Amino acid sequence: MAAISMRNIVKRYSDGYQAVDNVSLDIADGEFVILVGPSGCGKSTLLRMIVGLEDITSGDMMIGDVRVNQKAPRDRNLSMVFQNYALYPHLTVFENIAFPLRLRNTPDAEVRERVRTAAELLQLTEHLDRKPAHLSGGQRQRVAMGRAIVRKADAFLFDEPLSNLDAKLRGQMRTEIARMQKRLGTTTVYVTHDQTEAMTLGDRIAVLRRGVLQQVGTARQLYEEP
Ligand code: ADP
Ligand code: ADP
Repeated sequence: MAAISMRNIVKRYSDGYQAVDNVSLDIADGEFVILVGPSGCGKSTLLRMIVGLEDITSGDMMIGDVRVNQKAPRDRNLSMVFQNYALYPHLTVFENIAFPLRLRNTPDAEVRERVRTAAELLQLTEHLDRKPAHLSGGQRQRVAMGRAIVRKADAFLFDEPLSNLDAKLRGQMRTEIARMQKRLGTTTVYVTHDQTEAMTLGDRIAVLRRGVLQQVGTARQLYEEP
């Protein structure tokens, strides 16, 4: 059974614009899939439909064996990292990462344990008492990731999380994200318009153009073979 299964997904916005055109895609449990394509091709729309932040016009969205078309985001158990990783400025790094657990009234001891584990994975252990304003861009980005991975989610969804970082940091973070995903083994869908990111991250690449899924395969299959 696929972790995430999309069947003939269509999105037509209220102004009539069709942003996603009959997309079908199965994502295996633990798989890291990159959704790549030029700006405006419908990547964010598709990701937002997986999370439930956008209604599906037609088609079926399955998480495991549950059809989630009508389910609110809070009933899907997914974790998303946005391009503009809004951190809470008045909270420390620790409390920013802990936030999703606090919302669920997780016991303190478990919060400490989980935040510590996430912070270690993301090399934030020394910064847990600091406020976001005093962190570098890369560190803030890690805090946003920490907030996403701190809770056991069925999948992580990343929407161009590195686009605000400089090229050097982006390369470094790519490596870290790939490593983190393998360590956690959590199903991941990662949206980017960056070919390099698509080729170096993830198990499989799905290429979207004008709302249509054009190709799906490994980097090798898509970019190296004649
Ligand atoms: P991408 O993430 O690939 O850049 P988006 O999913 O954000 O693309 O957008 C896909 C298309 O849908 C774009 O042409 C965009 O203008 C359009 N679109 C996005 N949001 C809306 C909306 N709320 N209403 C109408 N059209 C939208
Ligand atoms: P609140 O619970 O305070 O109303 P929100 O309105 O931000 O918080 O979100 C409600 C629920 O929807 C959250 O508890 C969360 O599980 C889910 N949710 C909202 N946004 C996202 C997202 N981007 N990714 C995953 N889940 C989300």
